[in-house]
Amino acid sequence: MTPRRPTRQITLGDDRVGFVKIGGGKPDRHGNPTTPAPVSVQTMTAGYTHDIDKCVAEIHKLAAGGADVVRVAVPEKKDTDALKHIIPQIKVPIVADVHFHFQRALDAVESGVHKIRLNPGNINDRAQVIEVIKACKAANGGKGIPIRVGVNEGSIIERKDKQKRAKELGAVFSDHKHGYMLAIMIAKLEEYLDIFYEQDFYDIGISAKSMDAALTIDAYTEISKRFDHPLHLGVTHAGPKETGTIRSVVALGSLLTQGIGDTLRISYANDPIYEVQDGLELLYCLGLRERKGVDLIACPTCGRIQVDLFTLVQDVRKQLAEKVTVPMKVAVMGCIVNGPGEAEGADVAVFAGDRRGIIYVQGEKVANVPEAEILPRLLHECLEFQGKVLRGEVKLGEKKVDIVPPDPIGELGSGWEKIAAEKRTQTATLTIGKS
Ligand code: SF4
Repeated sequence: MTPRRPTRQITLGDDRVGFVKIGGGKPDRHGNPTTPAPVSVQTMTAGYTHDIDKCVAEIHKLAAGGADVVRVAVPEKKDTDALKHIIPQIKVPIVADVHFHFQRALDAVESGVHKIRLNPGNINDRAQVIEVIKACKAANGGKGIPIRVGVNEGSIIERKDKQKRAKELGAVFSDHKHGYMLAIMIAKLEEYLDIFYEQDFYDIGISAKSMDAALTIDAYTEISKRFDHPLHLGVTHAGPKETGTIRSVVALGSLLTQGIGDTLRISYANDPIYEVQDGLELLYCLGLRERKGVDLIACPTCGRIQVDLFTLVQDVRKQLAEKVTVPMKVAVMGCIVNGPGEAEGADVAVFAGDRRGIIYVQGEKVANVPEAEILPRLLHECLEFQGKVLRGEVKLGEKKVDIVPPDPIGELGSGWEKIAAEKRTQTATLTIGKS
């Protein structure tokens, strides 16, 4: 992992909803040092903003699911009017997503929104942009609110002068598959941000989204060399969840490993709560955020499987997500041949054998139950273990205990009978947990 790229830092929020910092590492405008904030996860509501009660409920759900920031669409005056009623009820910073009408940005600022997103592709009248900048500067009792400048492949091209721009800019990245698009994204950002700099406004985040994962990686990489504003990562129009997740994660994961990216949205056509879950999981996997809740390890299954593992894993995942808040590692393994090794480091683990489950807590065997009892017993052990962690009686991943697996091979599988009968034969000594 490359260390995080130092950027300016922006802050969203207020005393009531709390504050979310984005980016950092460069001194602030007063010369005070800033520390890079954890990469934050954003999403966008799917319902109408003017449907106030539903919008509030959706924002609550997304915030409870781990969204650090929630964006809402404000295409009409009734949407920005609704913000006046929504913002006092929610507990997470809100971004107004503005397109086409600069007046919607002014209305959103007046409604108390915590950040504005502008699209240079459809709000590009200089005088109008300046008016929005001045309103954001004066907002929040004069402390100001940030603006995200979000260029987007789908709306960046000015159709009327495409030929001229293509000729001017095409040579910039002439050896790049998407050279024209890359060049126009950067040129548009440079032109647009000059307006902000002339107004002495630097409270800016940047995004440059494409539906093409490779172009997204190259666009953000080039932008990170040219601007020191925090970057909002995303792949736009990524498609359905099944393919959109991969499209987003390959682009965003690649950028994050290069130290690029300060906040992100995974986006696809599905309930936005999944975007939040996937965004968090990406950051957990890269060690960029401290995990909240269970880290579930499960084997992929193979011909040695001894129980209905797919169902068991899904049931364990759902139930633990609701009940466990400490970041314990839980392993669910289909057999005991490779299970202990694959689950190394788990706090609680179950290995299946002969339609039974052998449950370990920090390496100590605590149960050997028939398949039907695996789920309730495993949940019970996880909750008991969580209680001990919360009481300070044990530490996560710390206890080093030898697991002595039974002999599953023996005389062509006779080991499974020994498992059922709890007559274990030591064939190897495995260790789980950190030393
Ligand atoms: S734990 Fe057992 S069933 Fe699961 S993948 Fe490994 S060998 Fe196959």
